[in-house]
Amino acid sequence: MRNLVLVLGDQLNANSAAFDDFDKKSDAVWMAEVAEESTHVWSHKARIALFLSAMRHFRDALRKRNIVVHYRQLDDRGNRKTLAAALQAAVRNHAPQRLIVVQPGEWRVLEQLRETARAVEVPLEVRDDRHFFSTPAQFAEHASGRKQLRLEYYYRELRRQTGVLMDGDAPVGGKWNYDAENRGSFPRAGPGELPRVKRFRPDATTREVLDLVERKFAKHPGRLEQFDWPVTPRQATAALADFIERRLPQFGEYQDAMWTDEPYLFHARISAALNLKLLDPRDVVAAAEAAYRAGRAPLNAVEGFIRQVLGWREYVRGIYWLYMPGYLDRNTLRAKVPLPEFFWTGDTEMNCLRQAITQTLDHGYAHHIQRLMVTGLFCLLLGVDPREVHQWYLAIYVDAVEWVELPNSLGMSQFADEGVMASKPYCATGKYIDRMSNYCRGCQFDPALAVGERACPFTTLYWDFLARHEKRLRGNNRMSMQLKNLTRKSADELREIRKTAQELRQQWS
Ligand SMILES: Cc1cc2nc3c(=O)[nH]c(=O)nc-3n(C[C@H](O)[C@H](O)[C@H](O)COP(=O)(O)OP(=O)(O)OC[C@H]3O[C@@H](n4cnc5c(N)ncnc54)[C@H](O)[C@@H]3O)c2cc1C
Ligand code: SF4
Repeated sequence: MRNLVLVLGDQLNANSAAFDDFDKKSDAVWMAEVAEESTHVWSHKARIALFLSAMRHFRDALRKRNIVVHYRQLDDRGNRKTLAAALQAAVRNHAPQRLIVVQPGEWRVLEQLRETARAVEVPLEVRDDRHFFSTPAQFAEHASGRKQLRLEYYYRELRRQTGVLMDGDAPVGGKWNYDAENRGSFPRAGPGELPRVKRFRPDATTREVLDLVERKFAKHPGRLEQFDWPVTPRQATAALADFIERRLPQFGEYQDAMWTDEPYLFHARISAALNLKLLDPRDVVAAAEAAYRAGRAPLNAVEGFIRQVLGWREYVRGIYWLYMPGYLDRNTLRAKVPLPEFFWTGDTEMNCLRQAITQTLDHGYAHHIQRLMVTGLFCLLLGVDPREVHQWYLAIYVDAVEWVELPNSLGMSQFADEGVMASKPYCATGKYIDRMSNYCRGCQFDPALAVGERACPFTTLYWDFLARHEKRLRGNNRMSMQLKNLTRKSADELREIRKTAQELRQQWS
């Protein structure tokens, strides 16, 4: 054998650089389901199932094209538990002259592959991932010499580079950013009738995987009853079309809003398909821009959406590769409280958290504001160890791959990276959640209260957070208003708040 092309679970794209010079006669593909990838963090059953099902569909599609695929299933006899052991066995069996892989989405995996290749003495060629609009090298160049990194500048660079939403040298509509129009919440009566999202009923391959996951990972978190994620490129394209047609027009205005028992609202539900490479981000961005140009969606929605895919998605990947591996160990605020047990069960009296976590256990999904301003905010305010927060996010969402999850959780939501991702901590009282959702109406706590029996834990912990970190945050201009409000609290009130916060921390430790 000449080349053994390694295809990992988040690299399911037959047009990737790994296949550039593929020769059906002398090359083969290698794919392996290994338990370690589902257990190194305690993965949600739906996340495991999605990866395995999409991998098996990809394998079958390659075989249909007469490509030789050496595929190890989890339930095969003699299945190796780690990627390294499985690859060593494959190299022994097939004796390739060279191993080829596209840059993995996780630093740990890249290191493992490099070590394994060294151990078996076969050269490993790591190729750029063309799935993205930009490369880690481009981001590093952009970052070089800058005192502070900000999404906005990289996003504009990529808009200019790609010509997306541009009229010549100027942004379409005259502005780069329509965020101010994208912070709406629903009226008291709620969002009204929502467009139904396209669901993908499990086929025979997926059903087999669902059974396997229920058997092998019975104790893992999450439920599979409602598994309906796209697992093939064709389904992913249909999911995209469904979003563009039915939800994109309202995406902008309501992208930050939340509502009881409505996990998806106007969101796209395509992150997992993108991250597994079932969907090309160029097609996603082009479809959104085409909807605007055809008058089918307003500019604030389309720009807001494109900012997520062309902006944030590229930006966080750049951050990840620029700062790894040290990024994993960052803990600016020296937070060390363990992650409360209810994050794995949803069993809490705080309605917002119960909603966000239960929905996550049901679907492996929560939208951005639920992740940032409910679960993430709670961990930030309580002072949970960012490493544990990161491991939870990596385990629990179907779209979780470390390059995108880590900067979002450890950086954006926990402010553990010395302000690389966010210029200030995303901290707020329960009143923010009240403004953006109807969760507080169904809760025994009152978001306006920081002390007393009905005090909202978010509100108590918010003031405690500011008081605990006052010294550090003083130097940050963007925090001055919040810190000024802290000084308005009387010494007695603050003492009471801090005592209550301490009790809360003990309750969940
Ligand atoms: C703490 C935390 C952890 C997160 N972990 C992940 C993760 O593991 N995987 C992941 O793909 N996204 C992650 N995100 C970003 C975001 O929450 C999800 O991409 C989004 O909720 C996916 O749902 P959707 O497809 O309906 O997205 P929409 O809200 O409809 O957005 C459209 C697309 O934009 C991209 N996008 C949106 N926000 C971001 C962002 N902040 N960073 C990168 N891409 C973005 C996604 O590809 C998404 O599919 C995280 C955010 C936070 C705050
Ligand atoms: S009152 Fe506080 S705990 Fe209850 S839903 Fe609102 S923000 Fe969450």
